[in-house]
Amino acid sequence: MLYNHAEIMGISFLNIDREVLYNGIIYPKLRQQQKQFFVTANPEIVMLANEQPNYKAIVNQADYILPDGSGIVLASKIMRQPIEERIPGFEVMTHLIGYAEEEELGCYFLGADELVLEEFIKRIKQLHPNLVISGYHHGFFDLDDQQVVDDVKQSKADMVFVALGSPRQEQWIVKHYESFNKGLFMGVGGSFDVIAGKVKRAPKGWIKLNLEWLYRLLQQPFRWKRILKVFHFMFRVAIKRY
Ligand code: UDP
Repeated sequence: MLYNHAEIMGISFLNIDREVLYNGIIYPKLRQQQKQFFVTANPEIVMLANEQPNYKAIVNQADYILPDGSGIVLASKIMRQPIEERIPGFEVMTHLIGYAEEEELGCYFLGADELVLEEFIKRIKQLHPNLVISGYHHGFFDLDDQQVVDDVKQSKADMVFVALGSPRQEQWIVKHYESFNKGLFMGVGGSFDVIAGKVKRAPKGWIKLNLEWLYRLLQQPFRWKRILKVFHFMFRVAIKRY
């Protein structure tokens, strides 16, 4: 099945709604135990990919790149290839954990520091008492560490959520993807921190107003450089267009 895409600065985003994503792509592949690799890309990731050709090559190895961040949706509109809807990685992860619990599919959680990960697992067990947790491991290891790869493999997880931040999470997935026989692989950035309660996600009203970035900036002012990247991204999109 060929799906619509929107191209932004050399990154080809899947342009479909969530229902099609889940029912048309993710669930059937899970049922058939086919591998799938998702990148959820925000403006920072697009900018990073344009600064580092190696990273761009890694991102482009994903089976599907999802539009995370309202900056991507806005950019697609400016470029006259409007993206239907924003599909944040955080929401895909939480949705898929719920699905895994219903369908008795196993999840592996790789990333974050040990304390956050412990808190995250505790919280996930409270929220999803029937979830099969295939395994988990903190995110501070060498990307070539074979023990970590073996642990994920032996867990036979159906879904592997990788929270090492970008570019590390995509680098880890691409480095080892070939050696897996099955599994959905997705980089989820700081999502474990959010569920563990270390970082708060913006309230719904802020998200609706496309101000999630501002909420993040107020929570973590040391990230101001990243926000500049978002403005730089919008500027580049705008001058290409006009
Ligand atoms: N992280 C990790 N290993 C590392 C670097 C970061 O596990 O070597 C974790 C970090 O603890 C956090 C997550 O990666 O839980 C995401 O970090 P960040 O918020 O910087 O990423 P972003 O969401 O911006 O991609």
